[in-house]
Amino acid sequence: MNKYYKKYISVFAPIVANLHLDLLTKPFFSGKGNILIFHRVVPKDNRTRIHNHDLMEISPELLEKTIHFFKKRNYKFLHIDEIQDFLIKSKSKEKFVVFTFDDGYLDNYTYAFPMFKSYEVPFTIFITTNMPEGKAILWSYMLEDFVLNNDELNIDLGNGIEYFDIGKQSSKELFFYKIRSLFVSSNQFGLKELISKLFNYGEYQIKKYLAEHSLDWKKIIELNNNPLVTIGSHTINHRRISKLNDEMAKYEIFESKLILESKIGSKVEHFSYPFGDYSNRDFELLKEACYKSGTTTKMTNLFLNGTTNIYAYPRLPVYRFTSNEVMKLQINGFLPFLKYGFKQKIV
Ligand SMILES: [Zn+2]
Repeated sequence: MNKYYKKYISVFAPIVANLHLDLLTKPFFSGKGNILIFHRVVPKDNRTRIHNHDLMEISPELLEKTIHFFKKRNYKFLHIDEIQDFLIKSKSKEKFVVFTFDDGYLDNYTYAFPMFKSYEVPFTIFITTNMPEGKAILWSYMLEDFVLNNDELNIDLGNGIEYFDIGKQSSKELFFYKIRSLFVSSNQFGLKELISKLFNYGEYQIKKYLAEHSLDWKKIIELNNNPLVTIGSHTINHRRISKLNDEMAKYEIFESKLILESKIGSKVEHFSYPFGDYSNRDFELLKEACYKSGTTTKMTNLFLNGTTNIYAYPRLPVYRFTSNEVMKLQINGFLPFLKYGFKQKIV
């Protein structure tokens, strides 16, 4: 996401929404419904954070507000499995919404699950299997804590030992995003080495972060046993699929399905691309692996069958700053129009 998006959108959304400019795009781009993407649900606290690193952590209050937003508009709350039928058969003006979560965070169980149960709203969690397997590395939370807890550092980033003064919040943020780009470009390869080099963290700290943040298999099984919940795959290693060779892409797509199915004892038929990243090859792989859908992070609504590719379902993001006005501009196709123009119906 563009770093200015949040700033502009927070100022601009209430004005545009009050002027009802979204009614211009509504007839063309609101579609039949939408899928929402969430990551974490965490109560607000007063901890200092790295700017924008907490964007994907919404409060339980915002989750509840989002449920109310769609209830008020008489949207049908669907399971992900019901989308295709709805797109093909539903002749009425009724619209649908599907709630989805990526990665597999523990707070989905602690805060979101009880709320969805009380409102009887179905939802999907796409699991990166290395999370419950105890093998994932939650580097961005480690990096944030590390940067917030240190004021000066001597680190070798490849050009010999360098000194960094990160006493001020602004230098902490600069440093955080500098190192973050290193982690992102690694595409999860050599992460352990990078972490031990930078933070001097070993297996113990890596596991500790994971245990504090990730769902374990027991909870995933409990979630799966509830009829409201669908468990989907978000690969094994959370790598950008389109950047992988055929063999590795196949491994991430096929093997994660097998791991999940053997653990939860039921079929896993829906997939979510890490970072929303995909290519035409990946549609074929998903089809071959017998998935019924693939979800991306393309910010548009879903249109009648024929214009929505089942292996590239778009999803509307729900960030910390997603007010009712922002959501209204999304579901009425106004923000998608600004981003994709007339191409939003094409994959
Ligand atoms: Zn993810």
